[in-house]
Amino acid sequence: MRSCQAGDGSCVVVRTGVHDDLGTYDSLYEAVTTPCEYLWGPGTLADALAWVEAQRPEGDEAPLLDRLFVLRYCDGILYLPQAVPVAAGLDSERATGTWYLIRADSPHDAVNHQRQKLAGADGHVARGYCGCPVEALGEGQLPDVLTMAAAEGASVTPIAVPDTRVTMSMTPRCNRILGNGAWDIPPDDPSMARLFAAPA
Ligand SMILES: [Zn+2]
Repeated sequence: MRSCQAGDGSCVVVRTGVHDDLGTYDSLYEAVTTPCEYLWGPGTLADALAWVEAQRPEGDEAPLLDRLFVLRYCDGILYLPQAVPVAAGLDSERATGTWYLIRADSPHDAVNHQRQKLAGADGHVARGYCGCPVEALGEGQLPDVLTMAAAEGASVTPIAVPDTRVTMSMTPRCNRILGNGAWDIPPDDPSMARLFAAPA
């Protein structure tokens, strides 16, 4: 169990492995390499510690390999992978666009594959085992992709999470697909907005 202190002094409590770097933690997106489950927050450190003391959440096991991720592509923007139950709990505004279901050991592999595929880079398949370390399982509207994920054994019971992330994280939430194998980070992404923010 780890508490994760954000730059504004607020905390969230997550369940994850002991060696994870939580400096990129994002509740909505899989920005940490290994599984990381949102439990509480954001709130003050004192309240976070009181919650852990009262609830005594136990450890859990989560597969590190062959994980299922869903990725949203909407208006030329590809978002970071999301856990299936988190995507199932999204409001309609965040559920639009085309969704992809990918099996991979790491969310970084999943987004790297889909980003390059959408940008037109050579060497990535639309379906099946790719030359990179992912398996592309399908695409469609979110309900269709959730159905595919359920057929692969994923829980599609919605988990509602707040929209929060470590404010010092430089990991973008999304990429703007430019084509010809290229992409960038849109200026309104949280990582860019922070980078260009006027010093306090
Ligand atoms: Zn690939």
